[in-house]
Amino acid sequence: MASSSKTYIVEHLDPELGAWSELEYLAIARESQDAGAKFCLSSLPPSFKVPDALNEIPAFKAETRGVEELYAADKSRVCLLDPAAASDLSPEDGDKFDAFLFGGILGDDPPRDRTSELRKKGFDGRRLGPVQMTTDTAVRVTRLVVQGKTPLKEISYLDHPELKFNEHESTEMPFRYVKGKDGEPIMPEDSPKRCMNLFFHITMDGVP
Ligand code: SAM
Repeated sequence: MASSSKTYIVEHLDPELGAWSELEYLAIARESQDAGAKFCLSSLPPSFKVPDALNEIPAFKAETRGVEELYAADKSRVCLLDPAAASDLSPEDGDKFDAFLFGGILGDDPPRDRTSELRKKGFDGRRLGPVQMTTDTAVRVTRLVVQGKTPLKEISYLDHPELKFNEHESTEMPFRYVKGKDGEPIMPEDSPKRCMNLFFHITMDGVP
């Protein structure tokens, strides 16, 4: 029988912490705190500078060890959220697993299957439906299923929404999001502003 307290582990697989990942991790930490869960960011390089805003959230823990070492004694307690898994996550998985593992990777289009780096480690895998989600969305949906006991199919989603920077500029986000009470996709706080900065950065870099 799994413990009722849940841990969401994001194994950091990118060499750096980009602005967008930082926003996603902050959203995961805040929501885990509110839900009485823990959020562990694992496999961090020793030189990694954890942002103060994350360190200030009690539910958050930074780990240089990887998930294999952390759960060496009991791998069966860990569920890998894997877009290629054979079965979908169900509320009953909340009784089977204590820890839920995600790839700390920015989404890509088309998906490059970097979750395979975690699949090789041999954890039990579950899918969150057929559409790629951002990491914070994947954690949000997992929490709704295993803590909130809501079946995957009863969650309201928005696929590939348009993110508006202002009245002239927008971009389509190639991911699935949870639909918020206001009918808008739930995204990390500050995303459009940060996205605007990234957009300008890319545009300016592209200028010869
Ligand atoms: N394109 C990525 C890849 O290379 O695997 C997907 C990365 S996704 C942005 C980050 C993480 O969220 C994945 O490693 C996985 O743990 C989780 N995830 C996202 N969508 C998922 C889905 N439909 N089913 C299961 N897990 C998902």
